[in-house]
Amino acid sequence: MSVILRNIQIPLFIKIETGCLRNIRKILDEQHIHFQKPLIISEKHILEMGGNDVVHALNDPATILTNENSLARAKEIIREIREKRNDVLVNIGGGRVLDLGKYIATKAGVNYISIPTSPSNDGISSPVAVLINEEGLTESIPVNMPVGILVDTKMLTSAPIENIRSGVGDLISNMSAIADWRLAYAAGKESMDDFAASIAYSAAQLIYETCRGGKMDLQEETFLQKLVHGLILSGIAMNIAGSSRPCSGSEHKISHAIDLLYPKTSMHGLQVAYGMLLTGMMRGESIEHLIDFFKSVHLPLTHTALGLTDEQMVEVLLRAPETRSERYTIFEQLNLDRKKAIACIEQYNIFISKYV
Ligand SMILES: [Zn+2]
Repeated sequence: MSVILRNIQIPLFIKIETGCLRNIRKILDEQHIHFQKPLIISEKHILEMGGNDVVHALNDPATILTNENSLARAKEIIREIREKRNDVLVNIGGGRVLDLGKYIATKAGVNYISIPTSPSNDGISSPVAVLINEEGLTESIPVNMPVGILVDTKMLTSAPIENIRSGVGDLISNMSAIADWRLAYAAGKESMDDFAASIAYSAAQLIYETCRGGKMDLQEETFLQKLVHGLILSGIAMNIAGSSRPCSGSEHKISHAIDLLYPKTSMHGLQVAYGMLLTGMMRGESIEHLIDFFKSVHLPLTHTALGLTDEQMVEVLLRAPETRSERYTIFEQLNLDRKKAIACIEQYNIFISKYV
């Protein structure tokens, strides 16, 4: 009898420790990863903040400084890599640099190492790169997983608090994404990958249990360690599922609609966090238990806290379904028209007024 199992792509190593960047050479040796011509992609201030530990440990290889996650910039760098025959990419920075780097590595056919310096979303190890195309629009493009992930928790402590809060929001929103996934499965619209769902859910649960009921110091290293673990596990869950489904449901549709209609309203993780409360209510769940959690980490409880009016929020609800029309969520189940969307916002405002 043959054994029926599936193969899953996961990174060879994940190190989340204080000061681990200066040990990159040793870590690569332990993993038997050898290369001749690395290329580093980063930003000047990131290198000054600690990224230079990697540069020196790798004997000062060629470095490209950029903070632009455009397809045009990616194409220039891919040409350069092909000419210079670089055989590994080391991407050090926030979301933009990591997205740019993973796309470049995938297209150029080289391995890459991700070194996130800001825990603001689950893109740290996700198999998706978000880039700006020629029309100035964002595109989500499937990419390979990194060969390894290194996170210096000491370096993360200097990340802006809003970025950390946004990371917490993106991670906790897995719970809402999975609730929608179950809904889609029950309605016979999608198949369910319980393994991917359980990884994404446990990652969110870890941060929920850590923060519930107390004031958290979000810039403290042990907390950041848990947060980054959770965000990395989310990326792995997405890779197992073959899509962002374990970490993206109706709450992400809300955030996508906000980005389309009212660009630069707030950060991704803060928008999905608020969206999680609203769509939780729409699914008829009890969301009271989330309020304490939201308060302990200062996540937004209302759309007003994000900077949106009731009228704008109604437009967001009406636009949300089509931002990812192939994905079945509570939006597709309720099929909101304007009247129902207004009622939904009114109902939420009454509910949340007890807590703000
Ligand atoms: Zn997200």
